[in-house]
Amino acid sequence: MVEREDLRDTQIIVDLDKIEENVRLINNIVGEEISVMAVVKANGYGHGAVSIAPTLMQCGVKYLAVATLTEALELRAVFPSYPLFILGHTPDRLLHYVVEKNITQTIFSLEQAQLLGSLAKVLNKTARVHIKVDTGFHRLGKSPSASFADEVCKICAVANVEAEGIFSHLALVNEEENEKQYRLFCDFIESLESRGCHFKYKHIADSIATVDYPRYRMNMVRPGALIYGMRGFHIGFLPVQQVLTFRTAISELHAVPKGQGVGYDYLWKAPRDSIVATLPFGYADGYPRNLRDEGYVIINGVKAPLIGVICMDQCMADVTEVPNVTVGMEAIIYGDGEDGSMTIDKAAKLAGTNKNDIIARLPARPPRKYISKKVTLE
Ligand SMILES: *Cc1c(COP(=O)(O)O)cnc(C)c1O
Repeated sequence: MVEREDLRDTQIIVDLDKIEENVRLINNIVGEEISVMAVVKANGYGHGAVSIAPTLMQCGVKYLAVATLTEALELRAVFPSYPLFILGHTPDRLLHYVVEKNITQTIFSLEQAQLLGSLAKVLNKTARVHIKVDTGFHRLGKSPSASFADEVCKICAVANVEAEGIFSHLALVNEEENEKQYRLFCDFIESLESRGCHFKYKHIADSIATVDYPRYRMNMVRPGALIYGMRGFHIGFLPVQQVLTFRTAISELHAVPKGQGVGYDYLWKAPRDSIVATLPFGYADGYPRNLRDEGYVIINGVKAPLIGVICMDQCMADVTEVPNVTVGMEAIIYGDGEDGSMTIDKAAKLAGTNKNDIIARLPARPPRKYISKKVTLE
């Protein structure tokens, strides 16, 4: 096995075996009758969509779903035939790409269906679409009105277009509101089916709904967070495990005498003679800048608080308490928590945001390193 040279100490380590285990857990709870659309938008929630895709494919997910055309094209360039789905809107001027590249598109108008149909006809193809119904979220799709039902029936009849699916999205306000959205969606589908308009896939459940509300799984689920080991559910349970570890290594150590300041505005002042480590990661690596007073890393098993302002590319930690601290020593930024490291869940709480935000904001800048016990990776 050839080790790839580490061009940077700050890295995101992605455990492909954990992705596989997480997807197997999802497959197990939903059963064989229900298809899984694996959501890999935002570069696979920061894990690297192209690199994790083969693992998801091996697990038999029905679709890889992204938010945008650009994300779909990036995957299509590497995987010429695997089913890809765009959850978002694609403007008319770009629809020819989804036809040419065999990408399944979300639509909610007859005009887009007709445009797709005419583009597909020229290429002697069939454009595949799922219809988005707005059951309350008011983000994408049309409300399940009689006029939209008429429109959907016409979409189903457009030549060279296959209306393969219909879907909606829960706002997850509370159980009563979920049920209202779900009923609206089901009633709408029933009215369409009574008019001879049938869909292979019907879906409304994201990660949380997949675990918490089994009856909303219909015959397809759209988990994102679960795949990456984020436990956002609160009624059901699934022992998914955090997939990524964010690590770096100390680049320099400073002996800072009591009373001296550190960083911009000398915002932190040494309360005693201290040892301060410089760490080569910052907010341009996706670390929340507002974790200034609460962030910490684990070095040699000890919690080292981040001190002063978090810079774009670097930050400083108080390592006075770290035994035998040396330059080059590993610092865990986000870990599984077992070593006392900050989990994604903890980072989200401290930064005042959610788990998906913490991982989806991880930029391309820190190199990804993929590990697996099963396969030899380049
Ligand atoms: C992002 C997204 C999902 C996945 O959401 P998670 O909460 O990460 O499971 C599902 N459906 C739609 C429409 C989405 O945009």
